Parts: sequence; structure tokens; C-alpha cells
Amino acid sequence: MQRIILTAILAAFFSSTALAQLPSGWKAHDLSRPAPKVVTPGDSSTASPPSDAIVLFDGKDLSKWNSRNGGEAKWKVVDSAMESVAGSGYVVSKEEFGDCQIHVEFASPKKVKGNGQGRGNSGVFLMDSFEVQVLDSFENATYPDGSAGSIYGQYPPLVNASRKPGEWQSYDIVFRRPRFGEGGKLISPPRVTVFHNGVVIQDASEPYGPTNWIQHRPLKSLKNKKKGPISLQDHGNPVRYRNIWVRPLVESQPKPAKAYDPVVIELAEADAKKLVGKYGSVPISYTNGKLFLGFAGSKLEMIPHSKTEFGFMKSAGAVTFKLDENGNGVSLEMTLDAAGTKKGAK
Ligand code: MG
Repeated sequence: MQRIILTAILAAFFSSTALAQLPSGWKAHDLSRPAPKVVTPGDSSTASPPSDAIVLFDGKDLSKWNSRNGGEAKWKVVDSAMESVAGSGYVVSKEEFGDCQIHVEFASPKKVKGNGQGRGNSGVFLMDSFEVQVLDSFENATYPDGSAGSIYGQYPPLVNASRKPGEWQSYDIVFRRPRFGEGGKLISPPRVTVFHNGVVIQDASEPYGPTNWIQHRPLKSLKNKKKGPISLQDHGNPVRYRNIWVRPLVESQPKPAKAYDPVVIELAEADAKKLVGKYGSVPISYTNGKLFLGFAGSKLEMIPHSKTEFGFMKSAGAVTFKLDENGNGVSLEMTLDAAGTKKGAK
């Protein structure tokens, strides 16, 4: 009897570890996964594009879009919104994007038709690869990783912030593309943050593969891609979109044109100690062969460029001492930025 129980436990253990193949521990589309809690969003869904945004749809025409099947986008413009036409295929932006911020407004059909995945289904694909699901999830149960705002098949939204069918809603998306190094090795996975009607529903989620129904493709299938279009899914439902804009993001912070390489002298201990003291409210101290300037509760290590000129080890700025005839510090002038805004201290 005991042996049978043990065998059953072992079988359960091995089957659960063997079957939990995805990083989430869930199989895609598991209906027993907890459903996102419902949150009623605040009022506004609109955001006019900032000055550096690339507007992909302003209510007029589909000139910024193609059909994924080739040729012109076959969706229609109705009442200043672009509407998915069943069977016409995805529309893809002509311009391609890597890291970007996206604002998109959408509305499910007012007349509710169908249920589950068949109700107001569309989707915003980032880099033509990762779907932020568009679905009428207002009182419409489906598998959580396929509900509105899910990274389809992978990450359910943190909460369900859906508005009623027919009402305008918004996604504000921050997307970082996957990065690959030598030999196609993944350096950093893609990252997706989404606000749905102003409510955060994806917080730096890391898709583990391009969206695919039932089965995930590996991330490395994107190893030669740095950009891709934004695409909108035709899933057979007349979902409408408006006010779509994108801001490409700085891919990495710029490095200094040249490395810091200041003149550094060896300052004799005796000379260093002649600078120790209090200059107004600024204390100069000497510990383990190094001079420090006390400022705003921090001790900033000073680098000697000469007997009177110093920089800081880790921050921009400089300190200049006035000395008396014996080499003792009398006063100092300091800056805390590279622009050299001087502050005196005696
Ligand atoms: Mg979809």
C-alpha cells in the first residue's frame, strides 16, 4: 500500500516537473490559471502624441500601413477609426521599430457577438512578433493568458482593466527588443510593460518566444532582427483602432566621447594633511592616504591634479584650494558639475 502511494507521489512529481516546460510553470492556455482580478479604470483613454512621436494613424487614412499579405492595407476607415475587416489579414506598419513606446486606442464591437476568444479579438504585435492581446474581456471568461492585455499564451495581465464593449480603451506599451551577442547567444530577453486604460497590467514581462498559437517559437528565431513593424491582428472581428503613435526609445545611454583621463599626482601625506579642516560648512578629511570632501551627508573622494586642484573620483566637479605661505589650506572653491558653477567656502 505504502509503496503504491510513494509511486503515485513520485509519478506526480516527475510528471509535474516534466510537463512544466515553460518558465511560468503553466502550460499555455490553462483554464485553471487564476483569472486576472477586475479593476474599473479611470476616465480617460486619450493621449495626444508628444512632439517626437511617429503617428501611425490619426483618423484619416491607412497610408502608414500595408497588408501583411502584401500590397495596401485592406482594413477600412470608419468614423475616423480604422476597422479590422474579416479575412483581409493583418495590417503592418510601413515603418519598423525596435525599442519603443506605443500608444494605441481600440474599441471592441458594441454589439456583443461570440464568446471567449471569438469576441472582439485582435492584437498589437510588437516587432511583428509579440502579441499584446486585444480582446473584449468585459465579463467574458477565457483562458487568462489569452485575455485582454495578456502577452498571448505567456503572461496574463496583472488585472483586468477592460471597459465595456464599444467603449474606447487604450494600451500604453513600453517595449525593449531582445538582444543577442556572438553566435546568436541571448544577452537580454524582450521586455514588455503595458498600461491598460492607465492601469499597469504587464510589468516588464519577458516573453520567452514570439507569439504563436499553441506552441512557442524560440527567441533565437529573432537573432538577426533589430526592428520589425507594429502589426494589428485580423482575427475576424470588427475591432476598431484610433490614435496610434510610436516613440522609438534610446537603445542605450551614450558613453563619453573619451574615457576620463585626468592628470593625477602623488600628493605627499604632509601636503594632504595641510588641507584638512573645515571650510565654512565643508569638511575636508584624510583617511587611508585619501582626501575626502564632506557634502550633503556623503564623503566624496578627491583626486589630486596638483597641490591645489582636485577632482572627484566618481562625480563631475572640482575643488580648488587657496593656500597660505606654509601650504595650509585657507579657503576653497568647489563645483559639483562639469559646467563649473562655483561655490566658495572658507
Ligand atoms: Mg489576438
